[in-house]
Amino acid sequence: MGFTTNPLTRIFNTAEGLIGHYRLIESRRATLGYDIDGVVYKVNDLDLQARLGMRSTTPRWAIAHKFPAETAWTELCAIDIQVGRTGALSPVARLLPVTVGGVVVSNATLHNEDYIKGLDSKGNPIREGRDIRVGDWVEVYRAGDVIPKIRDVDISKRAADSAAFEFPTHCPICGSDAVREAGEAVSRCTGEFSCAAQRLEKLKHFVSRRAFDIDGLGIKQIEAFVQDGWIAEPADIFTLQARYGSGVQQLKNREGWGEKSASKLFAAIEARREIPLSRFIFALGIRHVGESSATTLARFYLSWQGFHAAINSAEPMEGKSWEELNGIDGVGAVMASSIIGFFHTAATREMVARLVAQLEIRPETPPEISDSPVAGKTVVFTGTLEQVSRAEAKAQAESLGAKISGSVSAKTDILVAGAKAGSKLKKAESLGITILSEADWLALIAKSG
Ligand SMILES: [Zn+2]
Repeated sequence: MGFTTNPLTRIFNTAEGLIGHYRLIESRRATLGYDIDGVVYKVNDLDLQARLGMRSTTPRWAIAHKFPAETAWTELCAIDIQVGRTGALSPVARLLPVTVGGVVVSNATLHNEDYIKGLDSKGNPIREGRDIRVGDWVEVYRAGDVIPKIRDVDISKRAADSAAFEFPTHCPICGSDAVREAGEAVSRCTGEFSCAAQRLEKLKHFVSRRAFDIDGLGIKQIEAFVQDGWIAEPADIFTLQARYGSGVQQLKNREGWGEKSASKLFAAIEARREIPLSRFIFALGIRHVGESSATTLARFYLSWQGFHAAINSAEPMEGKSWEELNGIDGVGAVMASSIIGFFHTAATREMVARLVAQLEIRPETPPEISDSPVAGKTVVFTGTLEQVSRAEAKAQAESLGAKISGSVSAKTDILVAGAKAGSKLKKAESLGITILSEADWLALIAKSG
């Protein structure tokens, strides 16, 4: 039918034939011009395929026969740290060039800090706990992957003066703190926009459809502007016209741009100077803060000033501001730490200040009726609700202008206590907070609308 097929595909009627062809392809593996990790045997009759059928996820009429991984021993000359687009610090082994399965290998991945130490993701020993050090003899293997890996280390050849590898605590690109969150294998640069390794991806997110969504400023344009140094951080987008609208270097003179498209872009940028708080928070690209979390935060803090003041005064894991942030329904410790960490970095804080100076951030208007008896009140639900689900109760309360919190504090106005309410009820009692049963609550909100 004119499809391109692999010239090494053959039909065989015996197991010996299949194995023979497997050996043949294995012997040619290094010269194929592409990486493979084995062959696949398939029944080439559609009726028989239908009769053989499927297991839960795999067909019974096809099976992979993998080649053994190819390995070689060589010297580990250095461990470099690369910084990815999300700020992830990835260790790369620089090797004395060695041939592995016909391919010369001089780099291999070392995955992460724990892998170098000889630990798996759960903290259990791998390689019987042997760590990997610069100067070591290491076993390199390729198993169909494009990037070779290090499997083992020969510590009998280790020099007496060798030292354990110290994983960097700072980003090698921008010098910001590198932080490894609890439960994660990866350390990340906290430099955000000030880190050249992260800048481009963050700018792409900033202009994406659910963030600032600027007409005519897509991924391609951002890449070109960043490459030429016209844009290095979000605030630069809003000074583009002032810098490149007139004068010698003008946007309309750039390749791909003209008078008309340039002025259209400037107009689109102007139109976005006014932005709702929820979109603004989402556009910052804070880790763990997605679109719906950004809306939650915006509705809770209402204004940029309110949000900013609260986060600036918050210390991670302690104090009133932390408890308030952590207590917002749908936030939690991981997101709260991430938000505080974002604003804790001086360079990021300054970047945000420059951006805010260019904008008019619209306070989040509560989406509800302001004359409801619970408008503006902070409400906590606890215990088992019997007439409505917890999610439904929260949604209903929010639609009436209430703020939902996950924990009881002095700022709580109402605790709705369902059956089997426990510690939150006790705390609310001790703080003298209004406590309603589910029936009381339903009667209260029935009064509105
Ligand atoms: Zn960095």
